[in-house]
Amino acid sequence: MTSLYIHIPFCVKKCIYCDFYSIGYEKALARAYIKAISKQIKLLDTNFHTIYIGGGTPTSLDGPLLCELLKALRGISKKCNEFTIEANPESLSQEKIKLLRGSGVNRISIGVQSLNNNKLNALGRVHNLGRAVESIYLAIKNGFSNINIDLIFGVWDETAANWQNELMAAVKLPVKHISCYSLTYERHTQLFKKAKSKVITPLPDSAAARMYKITMKYLPKNNFLQYEISNFAKRGFECKHNLNYWENNPYIGLGASAASYMNGVREKNISNVKEYVERIRKDKSVVFSAEKLSVKKSALETAAIKIRTKEGIDFNWFKKKTGFDFKILEEDALNLLTKEKLLKYNTKGNQRTGVRATEKGFLFCDYVCARLL
Ligand code: SF4
Repeated sequence: MTSLYIHIPFCVKKCIYCDFYSIGYEKALARAYIKAISKQIKLLDTNFHTIYIGGGTPTSLDGPLLCELLKALRGISKKCNEFTIEANPESLSQEKIKLLRGSGVNRISIGVQSLNNNKLNALGRVHNLGRAVESIYLAIKNGFSNINIDLIFGVWDETAANWQNELMAAVKLPVKHISCYSLTYERHTQLFKKAKSKVITPLPDSAAARMYKITMKYLPKNNFLQYEISNFAKRGFECKHNLNYWENNPYIGLGASAASYMNGVREKNISNVKEYVERIRKDKSVVFSAEKLSVKKSALETAAIKIRTKEGIDFNWFKKKTGFDFKILEEDALNLLTKEKLLKYNTKGNQRTGVRATEKGFLFCDYVCARLL
């Protein structure tokens, strides 16, 4: 099952913590970019399991450009099982929502980030709480039933009680999916510089871990079941696009900085919009780097990606998918991580049928994934 990802690298304003490739919106450049992406779409096979338009901020495109992109995708979107677009509250107008729904988009992921105005301000977001809530109801009114919101926790002066209040407000919203991410201090971001120059003091890891534990308890109790480290959904509303990714299935990424994984080759596109447009115009490759994975490396990657899911890895599934016996391939890591209580076995009778991360394993997921690779 192959998925399609399209990166729209424009944003109204750069958020202080953002490490994604995105630049300010320039109409002429955006027009040239959509023309380039549309040209690439024409060359694609039309069978995709899912489509995901992400960014940046896809809804920063003005109406006619968004329309052009959706038209180019029409042949593919009619046949796919899930069609998601990321949207930010400040650029999600009634006109755009109607256009999206009318063009077959059936899932919308809104970058709410926080349900607290002070926190939104501190993070450098353009929207406020009122606009965030309004955009959710606008989506509902225009026929979207599958809505995700992204939330961030672990901001420097945040308390566990503040975060709990946001979660309580979040579960009352008419959304089906909530993604919760811990704030990270990525190099080359304004946030990193602020922390380095001591303008702000990051929370200790223990405080962020406490908030994550609260999240893992509170959301499932309120019918948002955890199905991956950061993702919680009402039953049946898990994101198909991401599930496909976590099974290490192939995907094609179009756009500046997008990644692809096809026929065992990982590719990354150049992270420069102008150059991207120019290369497509001249029918040149936009690939910046490529790596052909050995069968073994691909199997190890499958282990490290799939362990992020709540259900973990079923040994039979793994064998069928990769050709490797998980217990042999990952013998050392398995012994260590189960001893450290970061992983535990799934059992049927007295048979070990698979393995999954414990709550502690989710807290130390980077370490777990690194051991499996
Ligand atoms: S809106 Fe999203 S992609 Fe754009 S700068 Fe902010 S965090 Fe980054």
